[in-house]
Amino acid sequence: MNQLKKIIHFNVIPFIGRVCLSNNKYCNVIYYHDIVKGEGFSYMRANIDVFKSHMDFIASYGYKTLKFDDLNSDDNVKFGKKKVIIAFDDGWLSNYSEIFEYMKSKNIKYNIFLAVGEIGKNKDYITWDMAREMHESGIVGFGAHTYSHVSMEDLSKVDYNLEVNTANEIIMKELGVQPFDFCYPFGYFSDESNEYLAQSSSYRRLYTSEWMYSYKISNTIIFGRNKIGNDYLVNFFEKVVNGYYNVHTMLHRHIKKL
Ligand SMILES: [Zn+2]
Repeated sequence: MNQLKKIIHFNVIPFIGRVCLSNNKYCNVIYYHDIVKGEGFSYMRANIDVFKSHMDFIASYGYKTLKFDDLNSDDNVKFGKKKVIIAFDDGWLSNYSEIFEYMKSKNIKYNIFLAVGEIGKNKDYITWDMAREMHESGIVGFGAHTYSHVSMEDLSKVDYNLEVNTANEIIMKELGVQPFDFCYPFGYFSDESNEYLAQSSSYRRLYTSEWMYSYKISNTIIFGRNKIGNDYLVNFFEKVVNGYYNVHTMLHRHIKKL
């Protein structure tokens, strides 16, 4: 990154984000994937010590963390300073083995979007027994992330019955709860997929991977999300958690129009 880009990314964008904070209508969402003991990589693998430094910040500054079923309350789902939804994509084993006890000890709630076809079948992912234990703890919420981890951007190319209906039924059978939260695999989505999923009423909330303001279609909230990278130092993490980067997509579109 050259100097000008650095200044824009680390100073200008968070400044505009702070000024525009009232445009954040819904609770801020951050997300991780795998948490590893060894070397991290981008936002796909965060090193455990880096991750703990982020969570220590959340705990020591008194942030309220929310589980998916907390979001059924209008008050909870509203944007608030020091309020955050922490999500993990896919259902990696480390979401249980590396962090469950730690998050419990800190009383930090988190959520996992399950790539349902991998759960209990792929050794790198959690099992249903682990998911049940986490669910029963009251600390961890679960959402859907399709059955085969396919792009849902163009729904005409997707086996909707398998990726949505079957995936939801399996979560319901294994955990006893209907998932109301859905995360797009790879972050790929389109206006059409949002419209279709919103009117199908399969879910109450859809999550993209774009740094953007969240909004509503019919009764469905489309959440923008903030990825958290392995190289995020705590002072940058703080700006992301506070929602200053949700202006990102809006600024990007404006710049492209010029
Ligand atoms: Zn995924």
